[in-house]
Amino acid sequence: MTSYKVQELDANKLRENALTSIRLGIEDFGLTKDHPKGEGDPARALSSIRNLFAGVLLLLKYKILSSVEDPKEASSLIFVPPKNIQPIPDGEGGILWEPAGNFQKGTIDVDLIKKRLDSFDISFDWAVIQELQKARNNIEHLHPENSLNELSGLIAQLFPALRIFIEEEMSERPVEILETAWPIMLAHADFYNGILKECRERWEAAGVPTLLQSILKISQCDNCSSYLIQPDDEALDDGRSVERDEANFDYACRECGDQQSIADLLISTLHFHHGFHPTDDVDPSVASCIWCDHDTFVVSDLKCFWCEAELDYKQCYICEEPLGQEDQLNNGMCGYHAHVFEKVMKE
Ligand SMILES: [Zn+2]
Ligand SMILES: [Zn+2]
Ligand SMILES: [Zn+2]
Repeated sequence: MTSYKVQELDANKLRENALTSIRLGIEDFGLTKDHPKGEGDPARALSSIRNLFAGVLLLLKYKILSSVEDPKEASSLIFVPPKNIQPIPDGEGGILWEPAGNFQKGTIDVDLIKKRLDSFDISFDWAVIQELQKARNNIEHLHPENSLNELSGLIAQLFPALRIFIEEEMSERPVEILETAWPIMLAHADFYNGILKECRERWEAAGVPTLLQSILKISQCDNCSSYLIQPDDEALDDGRSVERDEANFDYACRECGDQQSIADLLISTLHFHHGFHPTDDVDPSVASCIWCDHDTFVVSDLKCFWCEAELDYKQCYICEEPLGQEDQLNNGMCGYHAHVFEKVMKE
């Protein structure tokens, strides 16, 4: 019935390649630690991230491929489809939409994989894929030296995502298909999460402004990108608080030992998280707060994440235009109407 051409893929081979890549990625991770200089081998980290990223994508493609019975139809889900789709008569008075031309030689990329998963209702913790992709791009182009500690966090994150996928979507047992790589992942995730928990418990006594506590959880060491940062012992022992004594409160990184201002880190993470880049030609989404003077006023939330100040007047009562911090002295009017009002009062 179908007229298009597509190269047929062997599902079992795809599956073996996927599992081999993931196993190699984990083995490489194990080897990152055994560098003669004692500081880890960045080349191993690079190869680990490449293998893990490729392996997980292959595993997802295998799952997509094995969701359809006809091998040709299944393969058509994995290759990049031709751009045109044409209606053809189905011989029973209806039509079928058919790809016009052949499928391309290349297989689908991350975006198309996501679309296929969605249409087949296959779930995978997509945030992990995005983290892996980001790490792979960073390590290849930006800062390979930072990658070791980032990798450690990634593997801890990948562990539950893979476990759920293999058990629930593939109905298999991770230890059986990933063999020796699985206990390595398990032990690492336990170890990593143990330290992460300790770090978070220590921050509880550190007086981090309430609204910034969620930002703290996504803050990474400025030097090595690790999430394993804790309050500096001295600051904590002295009973200092981030909110009160920000100038004398550092974080300490558990992986690289770096120590820097926690307030600066929180503020830069807040800016990054709200997507403002100084080169964008748009209004900043985080502004300086007129009450506490920190660069923590989140414009979209009309709220300061440091001191929790909110706008008294949110919109102009005459024209309903949204008001910013700079309009707060105009008694509930926008700049234009405040000006008009002032003129009328003078006359
Ligand atoms: Zn660090
Ligand atoms: Zn403020
Ligand atoms: Zn107005």
